[in-house]
Amino acid sequence: QVKLGGRCGVQVFAPGMHDRVLGQLEMETALRRGFSQQEFVLHYQPVVQLERGQIVGFEALVRWQRPGVGLVSPGVFIPVAEESGLIYPLSQWVLGTACQQLAQWRTLRPDLTLAVNVSGRLFRRVNELVSQISQTLHRCGLPPQALVLEVTEGVLMADPQTVGDALSQLRHQGVQVSIDDFGTGYSSLGRLQGLPVDCLKIDRSFIQQMTQGGELVRAIVALAVTLNKDVVAEGIETPQQLALLQSLTPLSKIYGQGYWFARPLSAAAATALLQQPQPWGKP
Ligand code: C2E
Ligand code: MG
Ligand code: MG
Ligand code: MG
Repeated sequence: QVKLGGRCGVQVFAPGMHDRVLGQLEMETALRRGFSQQEFVLHYQPVVQLERGQIVGFEALVRWQRPGVGLVSPGVFIPVAEESGLIYPLSQWVLGTACQQLAQWRTLRPDLTLAVNVSGRLFRRVNELVSQISQTLHRCGLPPQALVLEVTEGVLMADPQTVGDALSQLRHQGVQVSIDDFGTGYSSLGRLQGLPVDCLKIDRSFIQQMTQGGELVRAIVALAVTLNKDVVAEGIETPQQLALLQSLTPLSKIYGQGYWFARPLSAAAATALLQQPQPWGKP
C-alpha cells in the first residue's frame, strides 16, 4: 500500500519500493562513476543488403562493463541515464566514438554507414543535438550521408511536432533518419506519409511472427516502398526468415540485421568480419 504524504507527514511506502528507489539511486551513482571511469563500450552489429548479401553498415549499440557485474545491457541502464541526465554526455560519447570508428572503416569501405540510437530525451535540447551532430561529422571528416539516426516510433509519435522538426533539420543537412522498432508505436498511416525519414526498421517481433506467413512484414515492406523508403528487418535469426525476406521486392531496398548474420560485435571483431567474404546474397 502506497500512502504518500500521510497526515503527520510520514510517508509509507509499499514493501519493495524502498529497495527500488535505493536500487535506482545506487545504479545512478554507479553509472556516473562508470562514465568517468570509461566503463562504457560500443558494440557494432552489421546491416546487410539482402540482394547482394553485403554489409552496408553497422548499428552502434552501447554496453556497460560494470566491474564485478559484467556486461550490462542498455535496456537496463539507458532509462536510468535518461532519468538522471547522464544521457546527454553519454550520447555525446557514443556519437563521437561511433563516428571515429566509422571514419576508420570507411578507409576500407568508402560507402559504409553507421546508425546510432537517439534517446527521446535529446529532443529536449534540439539546438544542442543538431550542432553536436554537425560538429562531430566535421571533426571526423565524414559526409552527413554516412550517419543514420535511429529514433523509435514511440518517441516520434509522442511529440511529432518537436521531433519531426528536429529530424527535418538534420535531414536537411544530409543525415539519414530511420524509424526504429517500427510497428510497435501506433503511427497513424496518415502521419507516416509526411514524416521526415528515409527508412523504416521493422520491429523484431514481426520477423519472429513470420513463420505464420509473414503477411504483416509483406504489408510493411509494401507500405515502405509506396512511401519511397528503405526497409530494415531487424532480428533475423533463421535461414527461413532470411529466405522469406529475400522473396520480397524490390530487394535492392530491403536490408536485414540479426543474429543470423552476426551478433553485436566488438570493434575488432566487426573489422575482421568486414574483411571476410559475406555469403548472404540471394541464392
Ligand atoms: P534497438 O535499437 O532496437 O537495437 C536492437 C536490439 O536487438 C539490440 O539489443 C540487439 O542486440 C538486439 N538484436 C539484434 N539482432 C537480434 C536477433 O537476431 N535476435 C534478438 N533476440 N535480438 C537481436 P541491445 O543491444 O540490448 O539494445 C537494446 C536497445 O537499447 C536498442 O534497441 C536501443 O533502443 C537501446 N540502445 C542501444 N544503444 C543505445 C545508445 O547508444 N543510445 C540510446 N539512446 N539507446 C541505445
Ligand atoms: Mg536501433
Ligand atoms: Mg530496433
Ligand atoms: Mg528494438
